[in-house]
Order: sequence, then structure tokens, then C-alpha cells
Amino acid sequence: MTDFAATKARFILPDGVIYLDGNSLGPLPRAVADHVGSAITDEWGQMLITGWNKAGWMALPRALGDRLGRLIGAGEGHVVLGDTLSVKVYQALASALAMVPDRRVILSDTGNFPSDLYMAEGLIGMLGDGYELRTVAPEDVADAIDDTVAVLMLTEVDYRTGRKHDMAALTARAHAVGAVTVWDLAHTAGAVEVDLAGARADFAVGCTYKYLNGGPGAPAFIYVAPRHADTAVPALSGWLGHDAPFAFDLSYRPGAGIERMRIGTPPILQMRALEAAMDIWDSVDMADLRATSVALCERFIAGVEAACPMLELASPRDAARRGSQVSFRFDDGYAAMQALIARGVIGDFRAPDIMRFGFTPLFIDAGDVDAAVAIITDVMTTRAWDRPEYKVRAAVT
Ligand SMILES: *Cc1c(COP(=O)(O)O)cnc(C)c1O
Repeated sequence: MTDFAATKARFILPDGVIYLDGNSLGPLPRAVADHVGSAITDEWGQMLITGWNKAGWMALPRALGDRLGRLIGAGEGHVVLGDTLSVKVYQALASALAMVPDRRVILSDTGNFPSDLYMAEGLIGMLGDGYELRTVAPEDVADAIDDTVAVLMLTEVDYRTGRKHDMAALTARAHAVGAVTVWDLAHTAGAVEVDLAGARADFAVGCTYKYLNGGPGAPAFIYVAPRHADTAVPALSGWLGHDAPFAFDLSYRPGAGIERMRIGTPPILQMRALEAAMDIWDSVDMADLRATSVALCERFIAGVEAACPMLELASPRDAARRGSQVSFRFDDGYAAMQALIARGVIGDFRAPDIMRFGFTPLFIDAGDVDAAVAIITDVMTTRAWDRPEYKVRAAVT
């Protein structure tokens, strides 16, 4: 059994804060400051340009990809880090579309994160030629998979409600009609067990600053199924995805396997921060994590529902259909969340009326859940949120 008291001790958690927002930005691992500090002073400071070889900077995107791969059911050599998630969505989608050249439909759902849909719209604008983004309600996705669909592009866990798609079933259905899948694991990686290889997913992408705790601006990742790795066309054909970057050829030739999904210079300091976070992940078993996450979420739902009838559960009640977050609907959800944050319970608000709480066993335990429930109960039953200062919207909610 994973020792979650030990993992919790490896984070800096400010006094008086119950942090239920590790699903938006994970907290700071204690080891990060020294690890990044030495990358700055000893590597950048002393090695200068030679750090690319001597400190292994150039190998970091793959090395981190292998460590992360264990958490998402990807074998070694099939995940690489780099860029931002929005960029990786574009890259995966473009590669996937190129594999089904006779079809024009990208199928997604209305629960997808807007950036994923915007990137698809932008790509369609570039391609012209009759391409279409078709979005249906999340529960209608399975029925909408037909032989006009080129690519099924979904986020496995809905950022608002935490509803979780059945990746294996939808992937099988897509394959049965000749479509290719792109899965966004933004709210999956480090949150729930996932088996990309077992589900036969074609492409997957995700970020490392949410559940994986890589820090603000941490790089994204991309997975390409081994069966496609040497034929996928990397639409964003940067020099570090070239077969021989330092040959400086005038035309592009994709690198071997997942290497071709690299684009340009990797963010080394961010990768060193993520590396320190991955040291914690190395001690975590994903089955233990999932079981603990489900227990925390169930405890939270039971506690809130018993005391706060004004909050309506927006997440699936069945834990098997839910990720590692719990959301409630409340008309004054924005103000209520500001009042909670003022009392140290940090979650976030998603328009129009969702109060969202993330449960992250690495640093949240049952005692934290009980303490959060007590504060939520007080804020809701006394209407402590009903004050003008809690109704002023900040730029980032
Ligand atoms: C968080 C999130 C993003 C954010 O993309 P960035 O490029 O990292 O800003 C995109 N898609 C989904 C599904 C997300 O949850």
C-alpha cells in the first residue's frame, strides 16, 4: 500500500489552507526549490551550453515521458514531454486526421475543455476542404460514432462535472467504424487509473501542472500508440523532431518513433521541477491512489449532502463514472467559493454555477475532507458568502 502520509510530507502546504485545487495547479513539492536551484546554478550557471550534453538536458523530454508513462499505461518510449497542452491537442489531432484522409469529421462533446475545441476550429480553418467539428452531448457520443467520423477527440474526465468517459469502449467503437482516437488526459493523469495500451488508444495528450504537480507552466505530454509511432505525420515539424536535428538539413525528415512529436527547445527549468515531482510519483501505486481518491470523494459527498441541502451534486454519483473531483451546483457559486477561499478551503468556480473540489490523495487525507466539510457547512448555512466583496469577479476563477 502506498504511504500517503509520506507523500503528503513531501509537499509544502501553507498553514490554514485545505487545498482542494490540485486538479488546477498542484502544490509545490519540497524538493523542487533545491533541484531547480541547482539546475540554475550548477548546470546553467557552470555548464552553460554544454549542459545539453553534460547534464542530459536533451534527453529529459523522453526520460520524463517514460516515468510519466507508467501512470497512464503507456510502455517505455511512447510518451514525450514538451510545449503546452493546447499545442499538443493540435499536433495529435492533425496527425490523427492525416491517418484518415477520406473523412472530414472530428467528433467531440460539449463537455470538452474549450481550448481543445478552439484548437480543432483553428486546425479546420487551416485545412479548409470541408472539415467539420461535430460536438454532441457527452452521453450521446457513443451513438454519434459513425463511418463519417475521422477522429474521435475527447477529454476523458470532464473538467466541470468530473464525469468520466469509458475510454476502452469508445475507442473500440471508434475503431470499429475506422476512426482514430485522441484522448485528452488533463484530468486523468495522476488522478485515475488509465491503461492507454490496453484501451488501444491511438493518441493521448495531457498536462503536468494539474494532478502531476509540475508547477505553473509545466510542459505537456503526448502519447502515440506504438503501432503508429513510425508513420504518424507530425504536423508541427520542428527541428527537434527531425531525424537528425544537428545535421541542419534544409528539409524535414521525421525522427524515429515518439521523437518526431518533439518540436523545439524544451523548458529545462520546468522539467527539473517536474522531475522532483515525479520522484514522489515513483512511490505511488495507481490502484492505491484510485481507491483512496474514491474514498475521499465519497466521504466529501456524504458530508456535504448531509449538511448543505442548497448544494446540488453535479458530478456522477457512481464513483466508477467519476474522476477525482466533486462538483456542486449553486446559483451563487462564485461568491460561495470566494467565501470558502477566504476561510482557507481552496477549490474553484467554473461558470455558470459549478463549485469544483479536487481530491488528490498525495496530499489530501480524510482529516482534510472533514475539516473542509465543516467549513463549507458553516459558510453555506450562515450565508457567509452573501457579501459584496465575494461577488467581484477576478480574472482567473
Ligand atoms: C487544463 C486543460 C487545458 C489547458 O491547456 P494549456 O495549453 O495547458 O493551457 C486544455 N485542455 C483540457 C482538457 C484541460 O483540462
